[in-house]
Amino acid sequence: MDAEITIIGAGVIGLAIAEKLSGDFKNVFLIEKHPAFGQETSSRNSEVIHAGIYYPEGSLKALLCVEGKTLLYDYCKKYEIPFNNCGKLIVATSPEEIGIIEGIRETASKNGVDLIMMERHEVAELEPNIFALKALWSPTTGIIDTHLLMKRFETNTLNCGGQIVYGSEVTGIRQIDNGYEITLLDSDKNYYSFTSEIVINSAGLTSDSISEMAGIKDERLRIHFCKGEYFRIAPPKNRLISRLVYPVPHKNMEGIGIHVTVDMGGGVKLGPDVTYLDSNVYDYKLTPAKQDAFWRSARKFLPFLEYDDIFPDMAGIRPKTQKPGEPIRDFYIAEESARGFEGFINLVGMESPGLTSCIAIANYVRKLIRK
Ligand SMILES: Cc1cc2nc3c(=O)[nH]c(=O)nc-3n(C[C@H](O)[C@H](O)[C@H](O)COP(=O)(O)OP(=O)(O)OC[C@H]3O[C@@H](n4cnc5c(N)ncnc54)[C@H](O)[C@@H]3O)c2cc1C
Repeated sequence: MDAEITIIGAGVIGLAIAEKLSGDFKNVFLIEKHPAFGQETSSRNSEVIHAGIYYPEGSLKALLCVEGKTLLYDYCKKYEIPFNNCGKLIVATSPEEIGIIEGIRETASKNGVDLIMMERHEVAELEPNIFALKALWSPTTGIIDTHLLMKRFETNTLNCGGQIVYGSEVTGIRQIDNGYEITLLDSDKNYYSFTSEIVINSAGLTSDSISEMAGIKDERLRIHFCKGEYFRIAPPKNRLISRLVYPVPHKNMEGIGIHVTVDMGGGVKLGPDVTYLDSNVYDYKLTPAKQDAFWRSARKFLPFLEYDDIFPDMAGIRPKTQKPGEPIRDFYIAEESARGFEGFINLVGMESPGLTSCIAIANYVRKLIRK
C-alpha cells in the first residue's frame, strides 16, 4: 500500500483528523481539491465555539460539542490561537419566548451545560444596548480565529510527517484487497492513482458523493445544501454590542435564528438565515433584498438598529442530511465494515457544531481505527 491512511478534504475537520493521525501512523495523506485548506464551509461560518446547548441528549452533536469546546479552548491556549471566551445571551423578547428559553435551559442541562437565567436588569448590566425580557447566559460560548486554527493543524500535520496534497480532486475510489485504490485529478488535468489501507471521507458538502464513489448507496446519507447568508453591522453601531446575542432557535433546529456574532477583529455580523437550495450547487451569491427581513428580525433585540446600518456580508452552505421540515439529524461518523467496506470511515452531515467539535471528532475517528 502507498498510504496507511488517506483523508479526503482539508477543512477544519479533515485537518484536525490529519494532525491527530499523522502523530500515530506512517504515510498519512490528506487530499484537497482546492489549492489551499479551508476554502469551503470551514471559512464560511460564524466562528463560534458553541457550548452544546440545543442538541438532543446523547447525540454525537451534543457529546462531541461539549467535549470539543474544552479541547478547543485548551488547544488555543497551547498554540496561541486567538480566541475570546466572550459568552452568549439567548434572549426572550416576548412572554411566550420566556417559556422557550426555560426549555432550552433544561435541554442544555441534560447535555451537562449550565446556563444562567438572567432578569432584564442583569442583561442590561452585561449588554446595555439590547432588549430582552429575560435571557439565558452561556458562559462557555466563545469565538475563534478559524483560519489560524486550520493553519496550526496543517503545520502540526506536516511536522509529524503527514503529507498534504493540494489541487487534487478525488474522482474514483475502488475497493481492493486490504484497502482502496484512489484516483486523483490534479491541477494539470492529469489522472493518477495510489492505494491506501484506510480511507477517511471528510469531504464536507460532497461527502455523499465520496461515499457513493466507494460503493455505499444510502439515501439517508444524501446531502442537502442549506445556505446561510450574513449581513454586517456598519461602524459605529457595531461597537454597541460586545457579546454573542441569539434569539430563540427555529423549530426542528434547521438554524438557530438570525443572531449577532462578534468576530475576533471587533466586527459584528447578523445571521445566518436558512435557505435550502433546490440543487447542490455552490451558490454563495448574496441577496441584498433580504436586508429588510434581517433588519426586522434583529431589531426585536437590537432596538438601536436602523435599516441602513447593515449591509450584505457573506454566505456559507450547511451540508445537511436533514431535509426541509424534518427533525434534527445527528452527525454521521462510522467505520463502514458492517456494509462490507472495512477501513472506510465516513463523516457525513458535518454541519454545526463541526468547528467546535473538530478535535473531539478527530479523537473519535482515532478510536474507530483502533477497533
Ligand atoms: C453558515 C454556517 C455557520 C456555521 N457556524 C458554525 C459555528 O459558529 N460553530 C461551529 O462549530 N460550526 C459552525 N458551522 C459548521 C462548521 O463550519 C462545519 O461543521 C465545518 O466547517 C465542517 O468542516 P469540514 O472539514 O467537514 O468541511 P469543509 O470545510 O467543507 O471541508 C471539506 C473539504 O473537502 C474538500 N473536498 C470535497 N470533495 C473533494 C474531493 N472529491 N477531492 C478532494 N477534496 C475534496 C473540499 O474542497 C473542502 O475543502 C457553520 C456552518 C455554516 C455553513
